[in-house]
Amino acid sequence: MSHTPTAPYLAFAPWLRRRHGQPVRKIPLDAGGSCPNRLPDSGAGGCSYCTRRGAGTGLHDQGLSLTQQWRHWCEKYARRAPNALYLAYLQSFSNTFRPARELAALLEEISQFEKVVAIALGTRPDCLDDEKLDMLAAAKHGASSGTELDIWLELGLQSASDATLRRINRGHDAATLARAASQAARRGLLVCLHVMQGLPGESRADFFRTIDFVNTLPVHAVKFHNTLVLEGSALAQDWRAGAYVPPSREETVAALAGGLARLRPDVVIQRLTADAWPGALLAPAWAADKSALRGDIVGHMLQQGWQQGSLFRPAC
Ligand code: SF4
Repeated sequence: MSHTPTAPYLAFAPWLRRRHGQPVRKIPLDAGGSCPNRLPDSGAGGCSYCTRRGAGTGLHDQGLSLTQQWRHWCEKYARRAPNALYLAYLQSFSNTFRPARELAALLEEISQFEKVVAIALGTRPDCLDDEKLDMLAAAKHGASSGTELDIWLELGLQSASDATLRRINRGHDAATLARAASQAARRGLLVCLHVMQGLPGESRADFFRTIDFVNTLPVHAVKFHNTLVLEGSALAQDWRAGAYVPPSREETVAALAGGLARLRPDVVIQRLTADAWPGALLAPAWAADKSALRGDIVGHMLQQGWQQGSLFRPAC
């Protein structure tokens, strides 16, 4: 493992550059779709921190096909980084929550895009079956250039505590996530887990237990999210009623720095802090300055003499 001098953790951008031999830019693609945990009329209600917007760019709702979206972003990025390769990132809602035939067509379309070296799909662990996992594994060999594609599967874990998962209305337990991660990794897919710090009812020790759980799984990357209260979410109602109080900035810095120190050193850090759409963030206000927060997390680690994995102890 090697870390950049400013990041005492295995950062994604330099990792991608080493793996693919050139800089790799992420292209966000919005394939539309939905999520079983927030289907209208299902009564499921969605995760408590989720907003109706999900996480898409909105380009699908504007009628742009994936190919049109790809051209839109490539034209934008080609000027800034003409030598870059691309990672196609399907982020919005649950991308495997669609008929298998539709998923196959989507993978086929993306794998033909020029200079694509990797495809990442965000989804829920309960939206996968053998047919879809096999399809994703086969997509590695789908590029017309003959290049073997990296297929990343991004799964929301958020917490290893089933009590917390019930509290935030995730609609699945930690065991379901562990099964999905193992089945994906067994097929050669790269697994990235989303993990949240500062969830309702959770302490720093709970967050560290989630890191310990991640360490036991065949995962290749993690995206950390500090919990944000967003307009339109159920959590916003709790926050307004005083039933949820976000952790302080100091606590967030200490928890994320400690979490990185406990994490296995081979796990790539794809994201360190959470994003909010402009105008959506209600609390905590300091979370809007992501680069200052990242700077303080790194500063805390350096002050403690930590790198990613410094406090990792393999289970006996
Ligand atoms: S799984 Fe994702 S899209 Fe679905 S309700 Fe939860 S956060 Fe929202």
